Parts: sequence; C-alpha cells; structure tokens
Amino acid sequence: SASSGPQGAEHYHMLMMFTKVNKNRGLQEKFQVAMRSMVKHGSFFDREVLVFHFVSDDASRRLAEKMLPELLTGASFHYEVVFHDVALLTEKLFPIVEAMQKHFSAGSGAYYSDAIFFLSVAMHRIMSSDLKCILQLDLDLQFRSNIRDLFQEFDSFPSGAVIGIVREMQPVYRHTFWQYRKENPKSKVGDPPPDGKPGFNSGVMLLHLEAMRHSALYNQLLEPKRVAELAEQYHFRGHLGDQDFFTMIGMEHPDLFHPLSCGWNRQLCTWWREHGYGDIFESYYRCEDTVHIYHGNCNTPIPDD
Ligand code: UDP
Ligand code: MN
Repeated sequence: SASSGPQGAEHYHMLMMFTKVNKNRGLQEKFQVAMRSMVKHGSFFDREVLVFHFVSDDASRRLAEKMLPELLTGASFHYEVVFHDVALLTEKLFPIVEAMQKHFSAGSGAYYSDAIFFLSVAMHRIMSSDLKCILQLDLDLQFRSNIRDLFQEFDSFPSGAVIGIVREMQPVYRHTFWQYRKENPKSKVGDPPPDGKPGFNSGVMLLHLEAMRHSALYNQLLEPKRVAELAEQYHFRGHLGDQDFFTMIGMEHPDLFHPLSCGWNRQLCTWWREHGYGDIFESYYRCEDTVHIYHGNCNTPIPDD
C-alpha cells in the first residue's frame, strides 16, 4: 500500500460527508465499518489512485486524520485523502440551493447550515471542473464488493443521464406523494418496483459532474421557479434534502437518472413497516440482486460478514 499514486495515474474520486463526527460515537463506529470493508474488498490496478474526499469541520477533520492511518493500513491500492471545509462549501452552495431548501428541509425556514444537505445537487457548480465523476457515499455502509466495480457504472450511463442512483426501499414517497396519488389514481408515482416509481435513496450516488454541467435540462431544474412549479404540481413537501429533490425531478424526468442495481445500496431501515405501511412494505423492501453494499440507514444494524 502507498498513500500517493504513480505519475499519470487514473484517479477515482469518492466523497463522504464527515461533520460533527467527533461528538458522535455511533457515527465513528459506522465510519470504521465502512472504511474497513471498503479497504478489504477494494482492488485497483497499479496506475490507479482512489481519492477520498471528506467534507468536514475542524474537529471532525482532526478525528479523521487520527483514525485514517489505521483504517487504511492493509489497503492494496494507492490512495489520497482530501479534506473540504464544510463552512467554505456551504458559503458557495447556499445561494444556489436556498430557494429549494424550504421544500425539502425539516422545519419551516431555509436555514443556512442546512444547505450542505444539498451538496450533491449542485456539486458540479462548486467543485473544480477537473473533477468529472465522483461517488458520494454515506458513512453507514458496509462493502461486500470492490468499490472499483461501482465506478465502472459511470461507463454505462445512457446519454442524458447525469446521476446513478438506487431506488428507495421503503414506502416513504408513497406517503409523501399521498395527495398527488389521490388526485392521479392511475399514476405510478410512489408505487413499488418493478413497475412503480418509489423514489430514490441518496446513500450511494454516482454524480457525473461533467454531464451535470452540460445538461441544460438539469440546470433549468435547479432554478427556483422550476423547483416551485414542480413542488406545487406534485404537492411535494419533504425533509430529506437532496434525496427529495432527485426523487421529485425523477418523477418528471426519469431519463436524468441511471438506475443502479438494488444491491449497490441495500437499505435496511424498516421504520415505515411499523408506521402504517406494514401491508405493502415488503414490495418496496425486497431486493433480490447480489448485495454489494449494505446501508444501515436509520441506525439499523448491519449483518456481519
Ligand atoms: N452525517 C454527518 N454528520 C452527522 C450526520 C450525518 O456527516 O452528524 C453524514 C454521514 O455521511 C451520513 C450522512 O450524513 O452517512 C447521512 O446521514 P445518515 O446516514 O445517518 O442518514 P440515513 O441514511 O439514516 O437516512
Ligand atoms: Mn445513511
């Protein structure tokens, strides 16, 4: 293993939000599981470098710098680590996402600090144009496969697609789109797979930044007026940030999204089974593909290897 790659190397970029982790033992343990399993299954060619981007506050950055050497020992691939200051990114992000925050954030106001939950939505506008593709990952993941295989999915994006993403595995958007579904009983919005449109989960996302920059359609959808129109059309009011935005625009413009196998983000949360949706829960939760990444969302324990 080595921490810096050879000259002329091919770089593979992945990004994790890593804020307020110093105060949160639970997140620290999740981070260890994610990194150890990624290192264990990760395999790259010698001229390739995996670049880890972390979005952090100062205290979380110091913690990551303390934890990473041990977590990355035994890595069979070249890697680099880059930290991004959450305050700086928030400053750049806020003017772009402020108007959409009220539709997709908890509470009534558009809090400045919540802008970072929309990083994926506008990352193409605030990261260096040298960055063409990046994987954004949650911390509460466990890898069962080589992360390099996930990067390969960028190569099968159809033209017009800008983001690769896995469907949501709970009926949360069946709930969110309740009024729209009542008014449009034949619509597949919020219906379960394989024929329905259950929405997306943001735990694993392939952001094709170059395609996002070049897509006139995608950039129009970021305009406050378009967001407000769609939110009204779908009676959409959510609190899950980027995932709500992608789910909403995906109902109108599915071709912007490259659907990934459910095995790349096998979510484990079952909260909605116990909250009024027990009868239809399984049709959303079922994932019969090979599991490459488990996602222990809503603090759900992940089965051991
Ligand atoms: N996160 C963070 N600090 C926090 C809470 C969350 O950096 O205090 C990041 C972390 O990368 C995490 C992601 O935000 O994986 C989404 O949160 P989480 O996975 O807990 O949400 P869930 O998947 O359960 O909806
Ligand atoms: Mn998560």
